[in-house]
Amino acid sequence: MADNQSDLVILGGGSGGYAAALRAAELGKSVVLIERDKIGGTCLHRGCIPTKALLHAGEIADQARESAQFGVNATFEGIDMAGVHKYKDGVVNKNHKGLVGLIKSRGIQIVEGEGRLSSPKTVAVNDDTYTGANLILATGSYSRTLPGLELDGQRVIASEHALQLDHVPVSAIVLGGGVIGVEFASAWKSFGADVTIVEALPHLVPLEDEASSKLLERAFRRRGIAHKLGARFERVEHTDTGVRVHLEGGDTLEAELLLVAVGRGPTSADLGYEEQGITLDRGFVVVDEYCRTSVDGVYAVGDLIPTLQLAHVGFAEGILVAEHIAGLPVVPIDYAGVPRITYSAPEVASVGLTEAQAAEKIGAEKIKTVTYDLSGNGRSAILNAKGAVKLIAEVDGPVLGVHIVGERVGELIAEAQLIYNWEALPSEVAQLIHPHPTQSEAIGEAHLLMAGKPLHVHD
Ligand SMILES: Cc1cc2nc3c(=O)[nH]c(=O)nc-3n(C[C@H](O)[C@H](O)[C@H](O)COP(=O)(O)OP(=O)(O)OC[C@H]3O[C@@H](n4cnc5c(N)ncnc54)[C@H](O)[C@@H]3O)c2cc1C
Repeated sequence: MADNQSDLVILGGGSGGYAAALRAAELGKSVVLIERDKIGGTCLHRGCIPTKALLHAGEIADQARESAQFGVNATFEGIDMAGVHKYKDGVVNKNHKGLVGLIKSRGIQIVEGEGRLSSPKTVAVNDDTYTGANLILATGSYSRTLPGLELDGQRVIASEHALQLDHVPVSAIVLGGGVIGVEFASAWKSFGADVTIVEALPHLVPLEDEASSKLLERAFRRRGIAHKLGARFERVEHTDTGVRVHLEGGDTLEAELLLVAVGRGPTSADLGYEEQGITLDRGFVVVDEYCRTSVDGVYAVGDLIPTLQLAHVGFAEGILVAEHIAGLPVVPIDYAGVPRITYSAPEVASVGLTEAQAAEKIGAEKIKTVTYDLSGNGRSAILNAKGAVKLIAEVDGPVLGVHIVGERVGELIAEAQLIYNWEALPSEVAQLIHPHPTQSEAIGEAHLLMAGKPLHVHD
């Protein structure tokens, strides 16, 4: 058994782990990155990138169907799933190759294999051990299911199986109306499937501002994506052609398959974490604002800790930890300032507080809100994008939240996050000129409206 010493050992090569590795190497640290599967993790291989490729293929299918309304003669003849996979896998493989090359070019040692803590700062992989002056745990998350609901990978599937389907299902039930469920429902509908979403809470994308959820629900109704809200799953049975889902209260639904999208749990079991004194809470590693665990010199980042499960949060936490280890001054992350996007058609994007959160934080009488409808935005009319920008601001104070719904609006949240994180006043943003005709003008117009000088708004 060989023991290898380095400045930093990282367990898990997903968004959180590899971002920490890249930044630490930049700062002159010797880094070992241990990965049992593929560098890039969930995001690159089973998450962000492949799902967005599917959604883009779906957008093209919808555009082909709707082409006549733009005066273009095209016919939609169907989805060639093998072709979709070829395109999707091409994007993933190109990114994977580039990422591995980048990591190697920074002098980071990649160790392939399953790692397990054998002492607080040592990871054992097969017959070797890797000890770091510091250790980062970045083992990510897995698709959760409900008690008694077993994933079989065929009829009752999770997102990783859904990404590998070799055909478009005739019909699908999606259990869970959060980001992942809504994105698959959207893509499958675009591909021609009959989709029903079952959500236990009163709204789709329940973490978003209620106004955004309602706009998405309306758009999904228009698209023929059925959704049962406030509906609780009871059990599933297999039928000759697929599955029958029983809901509490006696309702049943039938479809070819059931996608279980009820959230992701931390990958922390049987990895030696608790034996080495690392405190867990419901499986998540407990950390402070610098991502430090209960063991000195051991950090944790990404989906493994109870912060927003997003790739860019993993990147930010990885960078923060690398800089903290290197002794640089670091500022803890304001998680409300993290931009969030659901890439369905239409997209839902937000940053900052919802109206309910803002009211709870500073009092309903101290906030004001405006909603700018995309029908006043020229570029959105060209794209046939429907939706709105909703702003929440403190009375005589900064913008507290930006919530946008509409086709292609995800990119707009990059500007909104500057507005929120720099605590801009609506009147300051109203001074900024947005290029015409762009959808970004809707951000400018919403701030003009909030500042009391609306432009393209009917009284
Ligand atoms: C369907 C889907 C769509 C998503 N879409 C988006 C999106 O559009 N935007 C967004 O921001 N986020 C999205 N996410 C979330 C995003 O993928 C995660 O937040 C992100 O991947 C978390 O990074 P991580 O490094 O914490 O974990 P992971 O990416 O899960 O990486 C953990 C890595 O650790 C490795 N590992 C685990 N245990 C061991 C071990 N014992 N030894 C060695 N290696 C180990 C795993 O193989 C894995 O590669 C999506 C997720 C899913 C499932």
